[in-house]
Amino acid sequence: MPRNDIREYHTPTSGIFFVPRRRLLAAKTRFQAMEIYETDSFGRVLVLDGLVQTTERDEFFYHEMLVHPALTAHPKPDDVLIIGGGDGGALREVLRHRVRRATLVEIDEAVIAACRRFLPRLAASFDDPRASLRIADGHDFIRESADLFDVILVDSSDPVGPSAILHQRKFFAALKTRLKPGGVIAAQAGSPVFHLDHLKRKAVFLKRLFRISAYYFGTVPTYPGGLWCYAFLSDRIDPLKPLRKNPPRGLSYYNRDIHRAAFASPQLLRAGAKVPRPGWPAEKE
Ligand code: SAM
Repeated sequence: MPRNDIREYHTPTSGIFFVPRRRLLAAKTRFQAMEIYETDSFGRVLVLDGLVQTTERDEFFYHEMLVHPALTAHPKPDDVLIIGGGDGGALREVLRHRVRRATLVEIDEAVIAACRRFLPRLAASFDDPRASLRIADGHDFIRESADLFDVILVDSSDPVGPSAILHQRKFFAALKTRLKPGGVIAAQAGSPVFHLDHLKRKAVFLKRLFRISAYYFGTVPTYPGGLWCYAFLSDRIDPLKPLRKNPPRGLSYYNRDIHRAAFASPQLLRAGAKVPRPGWPAEKE
């Protein structure tokens, strides 16, 4: 394999690779190593600390599924908060709805600057007058802010480095205090193939924190395992009640049928299910 390939290992002996046409950026920010590549097959690819965050070809699977189940289930999502999401893709999807204000709290302003330059299809969303940007740690912001939100979206990276806190119980407990009555949280939760134990542990504390706590699923071809899990959390809104709004126009993946199907729970997350793990070492978390 040529030496300049982008390789992300999902286990010590398997993963995903891209053959880049060229590297557009390689930088060490205050928080992480950041690279952006141009590829023929997936367009531009953002990599943080060696992990693929997004590609131009398949980002819509992830961003539509993180955003639209919550925003379509909420009757009037005026104020929306995004934690993380420095590439701007989740913000772009939020702004398809009639929101009054979308606040994005990203720890690393270098990610935003790089995505504005190299991933404008995602990051043009930062120029929308309804968007408000804060450079801060998401957990600190939540603890210090007095603002309340109708919908909070957690667009974090994997539970390592600066993102680790965004997967913990104390963070979700703090998020809950920032929700308006009837508010909804949607958070990316990881891979049911590679992070199964982590997902099961998280489900236990999420169920204690929220009256309605459900995992839902969607495909993301370049993420580990190809199938991705998200958490839908609320004290009032049941994602399986008929949706009161139509999804926005112009989407590529999410629709009403996908919404219903996404909340079907695979057997592997149920108690006592047998899941083969031939020769796998510890989970990557
Ligand atoms: N969907 C992507 C994934 O699962 O790989 C994540 C995309 S987005 C680029 C993740 C962003 O979260 C990064 O830009 C990172 O800088 C930001 N981030 C990490 N830890 C954070 C924290 N504690 N507070 C706010 N933003 C954080």
